Amino acid sequence: MPSTARGAQRKSKPGSLKDYDDEYLVCREYLHAWDPLGSYRAKAEDGTGLLIEVVRCTRCTTVRERAIDDVFFEIVGNTYYYADGYPVQGGVGPRSGVRKEYHRRHPPIARDSVMPRNLR
Ligand SMILES: [Zn+2]
Repeated sequence: MPSTARGAQRKSKPGSLKDYDDEYLVCREYLHAWDPLGSYRAKAEDGTGLLIEVVRCTRCTTVRERAIDDVFFEIVGNTYYYADGYPVQGGVGPRSGVRKEYHRRHPPIARDSVMPRNLR
């Protein structure tokens, strides 16, 4: 039953989120800020050619290798190398919980203080 599932999700407490590193919390809420480092060629187990893109998050230093087939340029897999402390035992819980913690730490301020000058 969907309501039971939602209820169960709310109960899954992200234990250590309050002590979570602020930069990691930003990456959880706004996703990583990827900086391309380059790419290299590799072979899949079936011998097909792969292009491996390597990117690093400018905030939390997580590195992602993205495997792309070199014929159709379809993504065939991702491997992540997380910074120490980024993964949380049992997960961080629902995205809404991450968002709530982010906004608890960064309360709203005046619009003109937030918007770029040309958009005020
Ligand atoms: Zn990040």
